[in-house]
Amino acid sequence: MLAAVMKGPGQLDVMEVPTPEPGPGELLLKVGSNTVCGTDLRILKGEKTTGVRPGVVLGHEIAGTIAAVGEGVTGYAVGDLAVITPVVTCGNCWFCLRELEHFCEKSIYYGYALDGGLAEYCLAPEFVVKRKNVTVAKPGTPLTALSLVEPLGCVLNGLTNYKVFLGDTAVILGAGPIGLLHLTVCRLAGATQIIMSDPSESRRATAKALGADIVVDPLNEDLLQVVKDATSGRGADVCVIAIGRLELFAQALDLVRLGGRVCAFAGFPKGGSTGVDPNVIHYNEITVTGTSNSKRRHTEEAIHLIESGLIPADVIVSHTFPLEKAVEAIEFVSSGEGIKIAVVPE
Ligand SMILES: [Zn+2]
Ligand SMILES: [Zn+2]
Repeated sequence: MLAAVMKGPGQLDVMEVPTPEPGPGELLLKVGSNTVCGTDLRILKGEKTTGVRPGVVLGHEIAGTIAAVGEGVTGYAVGDLAVITPVVTCGNCWFCLRELEHFCEKSIYYGYALDGGLAEYCLAPEFVVKRKNVTVAKPGTPLTALSLVEPLGCVLNGLTNYKVFLGDTAVILGAGPIGLLHLTVCRLAGATQIIMSDPSESRRATAKALGADIVVDPLNEDLLQVVKDATSGRGADVCVIAIGRLELFAQALDLVRLGGRVCAFAGFPKGGSTGVDPNVIHYNEITVTGTSNSKRRHTEEAIHLIESGLIPADVIVSHTFPLEKAVEAIEFVSSGEGIKIAVVPE
């Protein structure tokens, strides 16, 4: 089969490799779509090395069709649509036992250590199947939409942390794929006013098309004033940072009302620091949360939202590349063009 193999930093080869053969307890997925994200780019550039095995097949946003069911596996049938949750946890460590499995001390990841979804086929070894990291979706659900389950799962984990209540005003900094998913789930959770900020005109247009009430060009408009004007001077109930720029952290603290909530959802440059005055958090009683990763329950919730047609996947997945062009697809992510890029094996 064809697979995008990470030979070393900066070296991704799309090449022929043996097709995995599922043994007892294992499942084989025929990949239907694997969306790529900034993490793949960081792995490819050698900026992210922890847990990355040289020779691994990249890709962790994996959706496909069950192609073979190993002996003894129940609950799956050939032809089922399925999604792989890329973080495989141990189930027994301190965090796993406290429903914080996404912090599992022994977790391993698809596209880092386990061969990922930028290939024609993807194997779920026995321990992955036993941990129920392969989840079946309803027949007929588009596979490109299902490949959004991983980023959407992370966004749902974020929502659990930052919370949205009926009637809230939410500000989302960044209208890339993650910002647009936050827009969608904030609306579903009851936000009645959503303000999105992004310097890109095309991204603002997409945000508007997907229902953002106000879009702001932060380079040419005063975002703080816009938010104040829209909230009788109070500030937003919640602000989500969906783009990893350090200066946005201090800005987010200013954008929320007294008692408001801020989520540092995006990853920030390694070792960066912000000159935030902690008194802003102290006097304003701001709740600051972060988000990294998701749990298996978020996979299930994300699948339900996608099956129900509540996620505008056809807008968010803006470009499709064939597997042969996996390198170009990952490089395209850094160009800032398009929204979310799916790699679809022919
Ligand atoms: Zn990702
Ligand atoms: Zn664990």
